[in-house]
Amino acid sequence: MAGNRTFTMIKPDAFEAGNSGAILKMIEEAGFKIVAMKATRLTPELAGKFYEVHKERPFYADLCKYMSSGPIIAAILEKDNAVEDFRTLIGATNPANAAEGTIRKIFAKSIEANAVHGSDSDENAAIEGNFYFSQLERVL
Ligand code: GDP
Repeated sequence: MAGNRTFTMIKPDAFEAGNSGAILKMIEEAGFKIVAMKATRLTPELAGKFYEVHKERPFYADLCKYMSSGPIIAAILEKDNAVEDFRTLIGATNPANAAEGTIRKIFAKSIEANAVHGSDSDENAAIEGNFYFSQLERVL
């Protein structure tokens, strides 16, 4: 059965552009409940750890630099079928391929600076939520 939680980040490009509020509004209007949230900033080392699965990819160094270039918002979200429904809401990795009306289509600047992260599986949603939030911060 599909899980009911996913994990998201509003990435540095969207935060810097002042789009966090508009993106959170779209997330809530799509039926997701925010169950944990904070504004924070990754160091390059922490970005490297978060994206460790991509360490062999050619864009890994750039991605770590970009993700530590400014503040982000990290959040755990709740909804039925959360992972899949959130991936639909954000759209394809490359905004050029993202469907009309998706968060990335509206707000992303490039394939790298693509406004938001969304977990790709229930297992990764739990790992990524635990990366950012201690048990005390996950009271809901
Ligand atoms: P996602 O699951 O849609 O976020 O995509 P991936 O897991 O494949 O990639 C993780 C993140 O790496 C993406 O969200 C982008 O920020 C970045 N990324 C993916 N592909 C590329 C690429 O070809 N070039 C660059 N510079 N960044 C990329």
